[in-house]
Parts: sequence; C-alpha cells; structure tokens
Amino acid sequence: MNQRTTPEAAPEQTAAQRTVLLRGGEVHSPADPFATAMVVQGEHIAWVGSEGAADSFADAVDEVCHLDGALVTPAFTDAHVHTTATGLALTGLDLSAARSLDDALARIRRYAADRPGDRVLLGHGWDATGWPEGRHPGRAELDEATGGRPLYLSRIDVHSALVTTALLDAVPGVTELPGYAGELPLTRDAHHAVRKTAYGSLTPAQRADAQRAALDHAAALGIGALHECAGPDISGEEDFTALLRLAESRPGPRVFGYWGEFAGSPRQARRIRELGAVGAAGDLCIDGSLGSHTAHLTEPYADAPHTGTAHLDTAAVTAHVAACTEAGLQAGFHAIGDAALESVADGVAAAAERVGPDRIRAARHRIEHAEMLHGRTLAAFADLALTASVQPAFDAAWGGEDGMYALRLGASRARTLNPYAAMLRAGIPLALGTDSPVTPLGPWETVRAAAFHRTPEHRISVRGAFTAHTRGGWRAIGRDDAGVLVPGAPADYAVWSAGPLLVQTPDSRVAGWSTDPRSGTPGLPDLSPGAPLPRCLRTVVAGRTIHAAAERVM
Ligand SMILES: [Zn+2]
Repeated sequence: MNQRTTPEAAPEQTAAQRTVLLRGGEVHSPADPFATAMVVQGEHIAWVGSEGAADSFADAVDEVCHLDGALVTPAFTDAHVHTTATGLALTGLDLSAARSLDDALARIRRYAADRPGDRVLLGHGWDATGWPEGRHPGRAELDEATGGRPLYLSRIDVHSALVTTALLDAVPGVTELPGYAGELPLTRDAHHAVRKTAYGSLTPAQRADAQRAALDHAAALGIGALHECAGPDISGEEDFTALLRLAESRPGPRVFGYWGEFAGSPRQARRIRELGAVGAAGDLCIDGSLGSHTAHLTEPYADAPHTGTAHLDTAAVTAHVAACTEAGLQAGFHAIGDAALESVADGVAAAAERVGPDRIRAARHRIEHAEMLHGRTLAAFADLALTASVQPAFDAAWGGEDGMYALRLGASRARTLNPYAAMLRAGIPLALGTDSPVTPLGPWETVRAAAFHRTPEHRISVRGAFTAHTRGGWRAIGRDDAGVLVPGAPADYAVWSAGPLLVQTPDSRVAGWSTDPRSGTPGLPDLSPGAPLPRCLRTVVAGRTIHAAAERVM
C-alpha cells in the first residue's frame, strides 16, 4: 500500500530510489502538452503523461500525490543572486520602504537600538529620488542616528553606499580612493573598500543566518536553483565558500557559484575553479549602474556631464576570456552601458581570434545585465554565443517614459534598453534573474516583467520568458538536460495553486490560435498586470522536498 499525500503534506524523503506519482493536476511539459501526471524516481523524472496511463503506475509507486488541479512546472532558476545580501535584507535593516529622509533616519535609529551587540550595522535599499527632502542623509545625521557606530547602507542598486564616520575610520586611506567625494554616496573603489570591511565584520553566525534565510525564502517561491554572483570586492572568499558548503549540507535550492575576479592566465582561472566556482563570471564589473551614474556610456548622461566609469577595458576583456577559455572555465562580466557592451563585443571577438571562435562559442561565456545592447553589439552576442543574464524587474522598476532610466538617459535612449524580443530573435540565449537584493526574488514577477515590458516592442511571450527563467538558467551553466519536465531530467519542480492556464503572447493575433487546445501549446497562468500570481505549494529539488506550504488556500 502506498502513501497518499497532497502537495503541502510532503513525507520525509529517504530511499534514494523512492518513486512518487503526482496526478490529477496540470503538468507543464513539452513532452505532452496535455499531461496531468508525472512519475519521479529518486532524483529524476521517470515519466510524464495522462490520467489513464497514471492508473497503471498507481499501485507500484511508494507515494501518490494528489494534485487536486494544481499546476506542476520546472522549478525556477534565478541566474543572478547575492545570497548573503538577500538574507541580510530579509533579516536586517531594509530601507526600501522608507518614504522620506526622516523616515529612513527613524528606521536606522530603531534598528541600531535593537542590535546593541552587532559589530557593524548593515542596511540596504535606500533610494532618495522620491523623498520629499530631495536628498539622502548626511554623514552627521547617520552618526547621530547610530550613536557613532559603524553603519553600511547600500543604495537600492548596490552600486553606491552611505556610511558613518566610524566605518570610514575602520578603512584606512579610504578618503584617497576613487569614488570618495565627501558627503556624496561612496562609489567605485571607495565603495568596494567599505563594503569589504563591513561584510568582513559580520560574525560567521550572522552570515550563516542570512544565507539560510535567503535560501529558504527562494525555496518558498519555487526557486530550485540560483546563481550566486560573488567576488573579492563583493562579499569575499569566506562568504562564498561558506555559502557553497551550506547549500551542500542542507535541503534547499541548488547554488551555482560565480566568482567575479579577473583571471589574466589559465593558472589564475584554475585557482578560481578550485574555489568551487562554475565560472569566473558574474559581477566582474566592466562598469557600474545607471542609477549611480557609473554605467559606461558612449554619449554623456542626460543628467550628468560625463559618460560613467570603465573598470575594465577591451584588452582586459580579451585577456580574461582567452585565459578562462584555455582553462576550460566559463568567463563573464557585468556590463550595462553601451560603451561597456562594446568592450565586451570587441574583447570577446579578439579572444576568439586568439583561441578560436569555436572554443569561445562552446564555452558559452555569459554577460550580466547587457541592458544597452543594440545593433552591432547585439549581433556580436549572437555570433559569439554569449548568454545574456537579464533582470526584467529592472525595467518594471526603472523603465518607462518617466522612470529613472529616462531621467538618466533621456526618453529616446531609455526606450532602447533591455530589448528582449530583439535578443531572442537574434538567437541570444537568455537567463532570467533578479540581482536580488537589487530587486526582490520573485520568479512569476520576473516572467511578468519580461512579457509586459514597459516598452511594448521589447515584450516577449509568457512562454518565452518562462523558458528563459527555467531552462535558460540551466543552459547558462552549460546544462541542456535540465529545467524541463521530461523523462531523464532532474526532478526539480514546483507545484502551484494557479488560476486557469492560457497562452499569452505580446501579439494578440498569435494568442488567437495558440490558445486553441488543438495547437498543443502548454498553457501557463494568466500574468496580466494585476492578476493574482500563482502560489507555491511545494518545491522539490532532485526528488527531495525543500519547501511545503503550511496550508492550502484555494
Ligand atoms: Zn549583481
């Protein structure tokens, strides 16, 4: 007699070859667009099909999970996450809801009073652009609010930060570094130096708490894998290796670690792999961000008389990509501005001349953000098989006619940003993510933001965005056999309480025929703006439940 369960009441998984039949739901699978059932054996999917065929499995399996109409999809992969910072935003001081400078200071004061024992106070998420005072807090105000303690407060885009005098004092020589400008938020080298000191002051217990909180939160959202974007200037080696160990040691999302450090030789590339990284990529920054005026542009900002910052030039891109390719390691960069993306296109093309274009393409190097991609650089990405790791929620937050991008770049340049439709048409592989805590973890929100891009011509179908957020994340790490519910694939899936399924495309004429069941296109939940998003009932990784909802609310 087998065990009968519901998506929320998941039994302890023990036997390595335990078999589970899920039935009576909607299984999103390209193998069978009408599938209602699925069999999992051990860590893999064994079968997907219809209710009639499921009867023949029902007696032989260890567990039958009655889906009661729930939707089963591959678990999501968030391709750009800062795990510790995400956890600190969950467990620490979150200023993203502060509505004014006064409100922000009050929150800082309260937080400092609640944490008398912390060696350093960490906060995130301030954005003074909408505050009535029209400015961020000054250093004296922060010193007063914290009672003179070390405080690190990253801006919403994490490319600049406010600090107290006590933290500055802990970083000798910081006032001489590029990016230090008195009362202004710290950027560039000065910012990286204070961030390193601030994170270095966390106790191992504080850090592990934050990492656990972030991973559990991801699991509860149906995320089965995430790409950690770490680096020497972001969180440090100890943070990175501790996270990889933690993820191995407990049930949770899979963590694939990227290490953003320049590798000038194959030997250096190999050292990065020995750290546990799947690539010398992620936030190896060619430039900064648009919000902080540090993205590297070909033409000056609309609201500042300069073109931003280049941390790495074309020659450095070539050296890094060639060295990593020779070491058999994936390479990559953070690049947002059009000038930064030109450095990528020219640098990777030069590396292809050096080591051979086929080897470059086979290595599937990846670029984070790639926001100002167009024309020549877009063609180069397709030609060099570069994956674009993109964050659609950036457009939802900062796109549109009167958004931050338009303020920084002017409306016409802002309209060219994040051209997902053109990228897919050109054959550029997309992997979706959030850059959490820059924007919060939220896979359906991410799919929605891509499908309902603020600039209509850049919209892609819900299915295209969903694929980029599931299979796309696996392809970005070089795996073509995962992120999809077909026999033989890893049993990484999520079960959802969702409304009726449909096929949504940016073009209503296409929607007209493909929503017809005869087209055989598997449906997905309605993601129209304002529609309630699916709720995660259960998340499973390698056949093991990593999240089960406390109760079902239908
Ligand atoms: Zn990042």
